[in-house]
Amino acid sequence: MKQLTLTSLPYSYDALEPVISKRTVELHHDKHQAAYVNGANTALEKLDKFRKKEIEINSKDWWKNFNFNYNGVRFHELFWEKMGPAKEDNKPSGKVLDAINANFGSWEQLAEEFSGAAITVEGSGWAVLWGNDFGELIVGQIEKHNMLGILGWKAKLVLDVWEHAYYLEYQNNRAEFVKNWWKLVDWEKLEI
Ligand code: MN
Repeated sequence: MKQLTLTSLPYSYDALEPVISKRTVELHHDKHQAAYVNGANTALEKLDKFRKKEIEINSKDWWKNFNFNYNGVRFHELFWEKMGPAKEDNKPSGKVLDAINANFGSWEQLAEEFSGAAITVEGSGWAVLWGNDFGELIVGQIEKHNMLGILGWKAKLVLDVWEHAYYLEYQNNRAEFVKNWWKLVDWEKLEI
């Protein structure tokens, strides 16, 4: 497997203000996401050395560590990709809205389920909108970066509710962060 890279943001560090501050985006991307990239790459280097019989690895520990870091990288890439500058009254339209209506009944229902998932993640984790090849959608949670996935479904939209995602602006008020975050969703980038 190839080494991972820290992908650039699709906008400037201050593009998500005032919902997410420039400082939070800097720390989140340049420090936290970078740490997951480094962690995944270190795990891949260890695997390479193991295959050359240079070191021993504990398979269970290796997999847990690699899975945590690799998913951390991919979730963050998706997180940034589906956001853009804040818009008041930001709602989906067109095909995305049709798919949401078909699955949830209404956009408001999706928002309620997704926000509920985000607010109630125990400790650190993510809210995820999962989609499958049949156009079905369901809201789920991820604990940390790697627990509670669903086989055969792809993450379409994710919201990071680790404290590092919002603490500078919102402190312990995760619900307020989640409420404001909806202004940032770039619905045109959703592939359903
Ligand atoms: Mn994060």
